[in-house]
Amino acid sequence: MSLVLNVDGPRWRDHLSAVAAANPGIVPVAKGNGYGFTLGRLARKTRWIRDRGHEVGALAAGTYDEVPELEQRWDGDLLVLTPWRPWVPLQNRNLIHTVSRLEDLERLLALEPRARFVLERMTSMRRHGMSASELWAAGELLRKHPGARAEGLALHMPLAAGGHYGEVERLVNDYVGASVPGERAATIWVSHLTTGELGRLRQEYADFTVRPRIGTALWLGDRGALRVTATVLDVHPIDRGEPYGYRGRSAPRSGHLLVVSGGTAHGIGLEAPVGDHSLRSRANSIARGGMDAAGFVRSPYTVGGKVRLFAEPPHMQASMLFLPTGAPVPSVGDAVDVRVRHTATTFDEVVID
Ligand SMILES: *Cc1c(COP(=O)(O)O)cnc(C)c1O
Repeated sequence: MSLVLNVDGPRWRDHLSAVAAANPGIVPVAKGNGYGFTLGRLARKTRWIRDRGHEVGALAAGTYDEVPELEQRWDGDLLVLTPWRPWVPLQNRNLIHTVSRLEDLERLLALEPRARFVLERMTSMRRHGMSASELWAAGELLRKHPGARAEGLALHMPLAAGGHYGEVERLVNDYVGASVPGERAATIWVSHLTTGELGRLRQEYADFTVRPRIGTALWLGDRGALRVTATVLDVHPIDRGEPYGYRGRSAPRSGHLLVVSGGTAHGIGLEAPVGDHSLRSRANSIARGGMDAAGFVRSPYTVGGKVRLFAEPPHMQASMLFLPTGAPVPSVGDAVDVRVRHTATTFDEVVID
């Protein structure tokens, strides 16, 4: 009776295998809600990918808070994507930290000279990272610390569409110029490059190991293997003018009210223009196809082959849909399809066949 992520196991695993085969040294990214699968499951699947004989460079956690859950199920290298800052404790010797400021590198070396780390270079994303001159200063500092364990350059590119290769080349050249010492320093950790760009990078920098960090395209790359369903919890006929819902609104048309599982606690409907009933916002919503003339907002639920309207804003764990007269009426217990943003949805259950 819940919001369920249904996974076609064989098809999903085939896809994971294919992505890993096409990206040797892959660094699966497991962060947030685990792309809807949970962090633990992604850690276990990363082990499965490795056990299938694919080379896995490391598993990447988004934040330090995610490390304990991933570590329980993954025994290989673990990279943390959020840059290390001086207030982050260093008890875990095996983590690979991301260092994005020169002052953090100085501090890290002072606190834990044997810490493993990658140096992040700022990209056109402008989120975190060192400038070219900071990177050169880092190289100089590291040449004075022969025991330091630099594990390469980290670049976080904007979303893949191609067209970033020139920038990548320039940033890698900055790193080459910085002459960072270390057995594993000749490594490039990078996200969001196309397969072609990755191939070109491997060719052009043949002395470097390339580690592609991949989340969405790995876990969610074959949407056909995934189906999200909710359960019909109740069905009520309603006549035009009859009141319903939290605000006692009267039905603008006759039909059925459908109560289905999935609400704001799951992340359902949070993108809908909830609560804003000004004429202007309504006109905008109608123009975008998000709201009908009676003020109903489009829901992510499909019933009887059609996307249905919310009868009112989603509740915490259930939603009310409006089915107009003439639409096929499902039964209590039936499953209906829901379109969700996987990274922003909390599923009650993940079922892998
Ligand atoms: C989230 C993240 C990734 C993975 O991004 P996807 O689009 O899910 O593949 C890679 N690198 C960094 C630094 C990230 O934060």
